[in-house]
Amino acid sequence: MTPDLARDLTYPAYVYDLAGLAGHADAIRAALGGTELFYAAKANPDTEILRALAPHIDGVEVSSGGELAHVRRALPDVPLAFGGPGKTDEELAQALALNVDRIHVESPRELARLQMLGPADVLLRANLPLTAPGAVLTMNGPFGMDEHDLDACARSIAGTPHLTLRGIHAHLASGLDAPALLDMAGRITAWALPWLRAHGVTEPEINLGGGMAVDYTAPEERFDWTAYGGGLTLARPPDATLRIEPGRAITAYHGRYVTDVLDVKTTRGETYVILRGGTHHLRTPAAKGHSHPFEVLTPKSGPLSKATLVGQLCTPKDVFARDVPVPPLTPGDVIAFTMAGAYAWNISHHDFLMHPHPTFHYVR
Ligand SMILES: *Cc1c(COP(=O)(O)O)cnc(C)c1O
Repeated sequence: MTPDLARDLTYPAYVYDLAGLAGHADAIRAALGGTELFYAAKANPDTEILRALAPHIDGVEVSSGGELAHVRRALPDVPLAFGGPGKTDEELAQALALNVDRIHVESPRELARLQMLGPADVLLRANLPLTAPGAVLTMNGPFGMDEHDLDACARSIAGTPHLTLRGIHAHLASGLDAPALLDMAGRITAWALPWLRAHGVTEPEINLGGGMAVDYTAPEERFDWTAYGGGLTLARPPDATLRIEPGRAITAYHGRYVTDVLDVKTTRGETYVILRGGTHHLRTPAAKGHSHPFEVLTPKSGPLSKATLVGQLCTPKDVFARDVPVPPLTPGDVIAFTMAGAYAWNISHHDFLMHPHPTFHYVR
């Protein structure tokens, strides 16, 4: 019996492995050497997850006033960086009131509004024209600024005594492996360090963002933190600070969505396994368009055959995994979707169809 079954959970249940998560974060930080590790709260802002991570990270990146207030409440002393497009005046004022350490400024207008408010340490978010072959998502769009706007912002900060330019922020792509991300880091620092020195920044900081690859088709594989951290250590001049802010690659592996089979049926030649819950709890497979990795926890024997795992929602989009091999399943059997610790519960449309919410469990 696996622990998830033995504990006789009320399904559906999210089960977070906090001890495993802490160990994983610790290993990442050790591999990073002197590069600072911030956690991107948007991947999973669960309070218990934040608390489990806190001893193993240098800070948290928040992207809204809501995340800011929540993380500050959960971790009163943790260093915070505040990023994201479309910050309101209220959010900027809240950031100053809650002693945010770094504000990642996204546009000249945002800088002008921040100037009206009061003292702040700023990283300017750069939208550099670097392509990343193999990226799942390139952050083209409303994020960051071109060189001429960056120059204008740096000059404007130089004329504003209560604002301090600390460095550059560049989160340009996601889903990259260590060699690709190191290559990108090299190109970012090659541009940013001389640029910052030219603008008189003496202890430059470069935030390289997140986006470390998580491969849902290979649950055993991990981003090569040793290669990445070693490469960054070599690339970092002694007076500079490098910082990263991953989300998915930190928490994805330490959450499971565990639920039981309600029905199994074959219609028009397709076999469907209908599970309690659905993508309104675990939106990840719908958001990424993949078959989510899972394990059958009930001991089973018998030949595998293809079936589609769905939830309880009245929409054909409520699919966890399509045409995947499963043993003969019957109502009551228990399935755990693995890799459900990031962009899972917190990105889901919880109240669609008004089914009960899952229960939450924390393994310490
Ligand atoms: C989403 C985001 C991250 C985290 O990305 P992951 O893919 O979860 O590592 C980091 N920085 C910024 C600015 C982001 O928008």
